[in-house]
Amino acid sequence: MSRVYNFSAGPAVLPEEVLREAAEEMLDYKGTGMSVMEMSHRSKAFEDIIHTAEADLRELLHIPDNYKVLFLQGGAHQQFAMIPMNLMKNKVADYIVTGQWAKKAWQEAQKYGTANKIASSEDKTFSYIPDCSDLPISPDADYVYICENNTIYGTKFKTLPDTKGKTLVADVSSCFLSEPMDVEKYGIIYGGAQKNIGPAGVVIAIIREDLITEDVLPGTPTMLTYKTHADAESLYNTPNCYGIYMCGKVFQWLKKQGGLKAMKEHNEKKAKILYDFLDESVMFKGTVEPASRSLMNVPFVTGDKDLDAKFIKEAQAAGFVNLKGHRSVGGMRASIYNAMPIEGVEALVAFMKKFEKENA
Ligand code: PLP
Repeated sequence: MSRVYNFSAGPAVLPEEVLREAAEEMLDYKGTGMSVMEMSHRSKAFEDIIHTAEADLRELLHIPDNYKVLFLQGGAHQQFAMIPMNLMKNKVADYIVTGQWAKKAWQEAQKYGTANKIASSEDKTFSYIPDCSDLPISPDADYVYICENNTIYGTKFKTLPDTKGKTLVADVSSCFLSEPMDVEKYGIIYGGAQKNIGPAGVVIAIIREDLITEDVLPGTPTMLTYKTHADAESLYNTPNCYGIYMCGKVFQWLKKQGGLKAMKEHNEKKAKILYDFLDESVMFKGTVEPASRSLMNVPFVTGDKDLDAKFIKEAQAAGFVNLKGHRSVGGMRASIYNAMPIEGVEALVAFMKKFEKENA
């Protein structure tokens, strides 16, 4: 068996230890004689899985008691609609547009009310996070929305925007559990699992209880009402049982690594190796303003499309896969989520150095 170094933006690399454990339990989960895939979501065994997963996530993020944790489906895209449907009481929301995902969320919200774009970095191809210290927050805004880590462009909010007392909603799909967060600063934190947490098909939403009400926009489907899922403890309908089981295993792995503070140190170390090289390289250049650099997604270019393509091809042959940049920006992107070992980044940098020498 040979595993590659997988730099995919998502679905992405998962800890090998977790995958091995899941493989061992595949045919007989803890003496039940069946796989978690074959198990009723109402069974005692699955109840234990989902309760333990929630408890471990609460411990990792220090989630206060007045926040609910929901395991949902429909991808982050479904949250682009659920958020306005559930929160737009005044039918006004403010969006900070720092990339394609924030833009899509902003566009979706326009279906339900007035969604104001109060800041953007589109003028420079989303290569920075705009100054959010004094934003024109709408007096009647129901919430202020950010995408905290921009997967495609490789930027991250280093400080949260001043929302002037309005509820902050954040898409953390590509930085979930990569570092500690102060949950109390947010009304909703949500993210798709398929980058840092588990397989695709699970969305985790952490929502302050006062935002979970029956007072949703008229016509909001039962399944798209947060209260439905909160009241049923994420078991209103059949959830993605296997996905939740895998997320739970990753939470346990994170606890074993020392929690989110240790993860942050590990991620900073990894990112530094790559950014330091990009800063000194003559051939490769990072595309993001240094102050906005993500620890998770690192886009870079050579400035020559043919050379980019040659690099991606040769890297793939050498076992460094999924380095092609997002189709909307081109170039390269290395996603170095929690489960990417430091050796993977060191080996990538060694390969880039060799490529640079050979193609100078
Ligand atoms: N938000 C962010 C930050 C993402 O990176 C992605 C996907 O890559 C999405 C939203 C969309 O996620 P999904 O495909 O789960 O709807």
